Amino acid sequence: MKTISRDTYVYAMSPSNKPVLHINPGDQVEFETWDALQGQIKSADQGFDELDWACINPATGPVFINTAEPGDVLTVKIDSIEVDSPGVVLCGQGMGVMGEFLSGTSTKIIPIKDDVAYFSDEIKLPLNKMIGVIGVAPKEGEIPCGVPDLHGGNMDCKEVREGATIMLPVYVPGALLALGDLHAVMADGEIGVSGLEVSGKVRVTVDVIKNKKYPLPMIENDDYIMTLASDEDLDKAVDMAVANMIKYLTEFENFNEHDAVMLHSLIADVRICQVVDPKKTIRVEFPKKYLR
Ligand code: CA
Repeated sequence: MKTISRDTYVYAMSPSNKPVLHINPGDQVEFETWDALQGQIKSADQGFDELDWACINPATGPVFINTAEPGDVLTVKIDSIEVDSPGVVLCGQGMGVMGEFLSGTSTKIIPIKDDVAYFSDEIKLPLNKMIGVIGVAPKEGEIPCGVPDLHGGNMDCKEVREGATIMLPVYVPGALLALGDLHAVMADGEIGVSGLEVSGKVRVTVDVIKNKKYPLPMIENDDYIMTLASDEDLDKAVDMAVANMIKYLTEFENFNEHDAVMLHSLIADVRICQVVDPKKTIRVEFPKKYLR
């Protein structure tokens, strides 16, 4: 298996990033990743105000996938996520949903052991390990790794976890996959602007579906197929994610449009991934057992 060190990373997804590794469809790769703050926070005395904001959200890679061409779908199956200890969580003035009401900043360094995060002596949290940033190069220009969009990026979706497969669009030859920003624990919303940020290792198996016009990005796990959409406006993100799932059901699963909409009312959950990044991310979860 090939591995990529966390010393090779990017701060933006771009067609001009130089690949650090070339792989074939079907290959398994291990990405070693920084936490979203690139290890800058080492003690509870440090807050947001001490961060160098130029060194945020490094994504390890990018990886060039042989045969991936514009118009294809890149599938990334998440085989395992290993997180280091400790993790860090922050909140403070100007940050997240409560930013305008808070004064000062707070930092907690949180030890992790045996799949438990020790928030305090009384509060012990089971891990829900996930990948915050995962994406490919956009068609042109560059998108900072902190921004989610059609190419993936900082979607901060807790369904990007072990066992799930994320599907991303290929805009440039080789796709240029990069990922990072692991969270050991995060709730839908990511209200305070930070999950339990950790460094770690991710193993994925990458494949290519040739020339398929899925409404991407999407996620599939054992039970659900999901569409994701990001926008500055949460309402628009909802509309886009729903329209994408309707498109998927009508174009690829043979539902008529009205049935697809009625089934959305009945069994498709619209959920928030996060509301604190430059664009907010919504996902729609449709149960696979009702697919034809
Ligand atoms: Ca993030």
